[in-house]
Amino acid sequence: MGNHAADIDAFMAALKAKNPGESEFHQAVHEVAQTIIPFLDTKPIYKDLKIFERMCEPDRTVMFRVCWQADDGAVHVNRGFRVQVNNAIGPYKGGCRFHPSVNLSVLKFLGFEQQFKNSLTGLPMGGAKGGSDFDPKGRSNAEIMRFCQAFMSELFRHIGPDVDVPAGDIGVGAKEIGYMFGQYKRLTNKFEGVLTGKGLEYGGSLIRTEATGYGAVYFLQNMLDVAGLDMDGKTVVVSGSGNVATHAAEKAHQLGGRVVTLSDSGGFVHDPDGMTQEKIDWVKELKKNGGRISEYADHFAGSTFHAKARPWHVPCDYALPCATQNEIGEEDANALIKNGVKAVSEGANMPTVDAGQKAFQAAGVLFGPAKAANAGGVAVSGMEMSQNSARVSWTDKELRNLLKTTMANIHQTCHQFGEGHGKDGGIDYVRGANIGGFVKVADAMLAFGVM
Ligand code: NDP
Repeated sequence: MGNHAADIDAFMAALKAKNPGESEFHQAVHEVAQTIIPFLDTKPIYKDLKIFERMCEPDRTVMFRVCWQADDGAVHVNRGFRVQVNNAIGPYKGGCRFHPSVNLSVLKFLGFEQQFKNSLTGLPMGGAKGGSDFDPKGRSNAEIMRFCQAFMSELFRHIGPDVDVPAGDIGVGAKEIGYMFGQYKRLTNKFEGVLTGKGLEYGGSLIRTEATGYGAVYFLQNMLDVAGLDMDGKTVVVSGSGNVATHAAEKAHQLGGRVVTLSDSGGFVHDPDGMTQEKIDWVKELKKNGGRISEYADHFAGSTFHAKARPWHVPCDYALPCATQNEIGEEDANALIKNGVKAVSEGANMPTVDAGQKAFQAAGVLFGPAKAANAGGVAVSGMEMSQNSARVSWTDKELRNLLKTTMANIHQTCHQFGEGHGKDGGIDYVRGANIGGFVKVADAMLAFGVM
């Protein structure tokens, strides 16, 4: 890398000084900087016009108070955020997360990643992320509704179908999107495509619910095809048990894989027989009703629950981390490698720590990074926006095909920019995704001049 190491260190030192204490944001930028800073030499104008520095500084960040009342009358004060990172190639687009761990650092990391991911889909969408430190766990439906209405009572000023189009993420599913869309409509008197992930009755798109998890498995399959591997009878370890995890498990099962784990923040379940569609449906229902994954082991004979543990020590061929950031530490990555993992496709955002990524790549494990592997969700969100604008609904078959084709195109872009840079001349998917996502946004920014 020559003196690029010094350039990267200097860049990161300046970023950390400007954004103190934002460890997740630093981590996400560092991951991208390692490939983008050397790449800037190929087109010096990117460097001269400080394109990458600009991508690391959100266009704007909105932080606001969200005040709501619990069923027992107690008043709660949460913090709401919307980080609008970059709208060079289209309206801001990215999910909203409701989780007690949400803070500015987490949302800046997610928004930063989102600008590259959205570019990779080939659709006209900029990058943003939002959410709140509100914890929906244990809250009644009425409390969740009041929180969503309070959150939208400020957010509505900052979004719009041609401005910024939020969607779901951790803790924000169809129910929360419904409450937020209703409140937006009430406040503005406009029925428009301001959110994606909507119910089918009011402008939602088929396949949106499944898209992120299915897409992560399609990306896995694309990587396997190039490497001459397949899914048939292979053991697949999945983390999480929410939207992304259950649909990744479902698609891996449909394609012939044997899915043996799911998890939540309490621990993981190991089902050596493999999860059937019936079992996965049971988990979806369980989670819809606020259940814990530990209940799976009580319900299905032959399975075991492992409290406060993650599934990465279970031997497998393929791993699909689909819960949250930094859930695969370096030691977890080494355990997976030792047990023979051949491919990792990231359904969650930044689930693997930097040292873990490097360990996978050094071991020749096919590694599909989140920006590419989980882009299927936002891609179908982009298709939901198109359907809303044209006031049409595309068919299930059309959307399934579009999702598959989009993931194949994203894989192709990663292949194009990553080929020859991996172990033994293989594909470096991290480099491929970073550069593939960067170029379109960078060239659009160049067109606008200095701003
Ligand atoms: P859900 O809220 O549906 O599910 C989240 C799952 O992750 C739950 O099983 C949850 O367990 C678990 N989890 C959350 N936080 C932690 C934690 N700190 N430690 C252990 N487990 C945790 O969210 P999604 O499935 O939508 O999102 C999962 C990941 O996928 C996130 O990284 C998200 O950013 C990413 N993603 C989601 C997209 C989407 O379309 N929904 C699109 C692209 C990426 P518990 O119930 O115990 O909290």
